[in-house]
Amino acid sequence: MLEIAAISLNFGGLAALEDVSLKVAEGQIFSVIGPNGAGKSTLFNVLTGIYPPATGAIHFLGRKISKLPPQRIARRGIGRTFQNIRLFGSMTVFENVLVGRHTHIRYTYADALLHTPRYFCAERSARDKVLDLLNFVGLEARAEELARNLSYGDQRRLEIARAMAIQPRLLLLDEPAAGMNPRETDALKALIRALRDERRITILLIEHHMQVVMAVSDRIAVLDHGRLIAEGAPAAIRENPAVIEAYLGPGAKESLA
Ligand code: ADP
Ligand code: MG
Repeated sequence: MLEIAAISLNFGGLAALEDVSLKVAEGQIFSVIGPNGAGKSTLFNVLTGIYPPATGAIHFLGRKISKLPPQRIARRGIGRTFQNIRLFGSMTVFENVLVGRHTHIRYTYADALLHTPRYFCAERSARDKVLDLLNFVGLEARAEELARNLSYGDQRRLEIARAMAIQPRLLLLDEPAAGMNPRETDALKALIRALRDERRITILLIEHHMQVVMAVSDRIAVLDHGRLIAEGAPAAIRENPAVIEAYLGPGAKESLA
């Protein structure tokens, strides 16, 4: 589904990504882990067209996306959430998801002005879709609250609902468990699995919460200083000496919990 081939990106003298290659198959939950500053969020920014890679190419569903602007990559079917939550705080929960949905609504300005059947039909289906998404992430009861009044964990789930509104085939989640309590973290694991199993969305996950990563991932890639240092199944990654050293420092012997 996604083929990342030898991409590099520098910020001034800093190699944020260096010769990174990865393949993600449709239906996988694929995690990207690594210490702070490893280049994980930069990888998401390159995949979504915020930064074009300096070298290398990215193909999604067989077509090249690495020179496309962000909105065209989104329309090809790649959605994302952000490490620093980006919601419209003074809009309601419902409206935040509706905004994501409007990239799909098909009616003209005249339809809206004249309230034609096409306008009402499109608006009704958008509303149904938003309620379905809120229900899916467990926020239907909070639809009319302002986004800024939600707990951290609920805001992260709202971001997932909004990202789903563009009907992505691939969803990039950047540290969705950050700021969540243990109960919310457990619910997040179930939500990530349901995205894949019920909604057929392939998942690329950046997460520091190792218990979440080990529980949900089919494959794990490890970045360190912009380089891919390991890629494999969770059990192999947990025992990989280079990974342990990147996390715990030279000489560390314990495996990742
Ligand atoms: P991670 O998400 O793995 O913690 P990032 O991808 O955010 O790491 O950052 C990788 C490196 O690139 C860091 O050293 C960071 O400071 C740097 N970096 C990220 N974005 C920018 C930017 N827009 N300008 C300059 N440096 C950046
Ligand atoms: Mg990051």
